[in-house]
Amino acid sequence: MEINVLKDLLKIAKAINNFELNQKLMELQQELMQLQDENRTLKDRVRELQDKCNKSEEARWADDAYWVQKAEGLDGPFCTGCFDTNKQLVRLTQMGEVFHDIATHRCPSCHQHCSPKKPE
Ligand SMILES: [Zn+2]
Repeated sequence: MEINVLKDLLKIAKAINNFELNQKLMELQQELMQLQDENRTLKDRVRELQDKCNKSEEARWADDAYWVQKAEGLDGPFCTGCFDTNKQLVRLTQMGEVFHDIATHRCPSCHQHCSPKKPE
């Protein structure tokens, strides 16, 4: 993003050859660049938070896990602990059959165990 007014002012300051004015405009340019960086960072953060909010609307809880409705069908299961605390959809991984008496799935992030069944 360019600030056209600042460009014009720099041209004018150069034309009238005022050192102090030139210096102040350079400082202003620096501050504007910092504000642009900050603005970009904040916009990214807003987008990130909006994505998380959108996920909240999509995810539904059923039988020990979260599931997300996609065009091709229900996606999941996702960890309830990770979603409830961090709004992160962490896919649960299946455990070996020898563990199925205890739990069928495990979260690779928080290591929670559960036995979710896909809702109908
Ligand atoms: Zn988890």
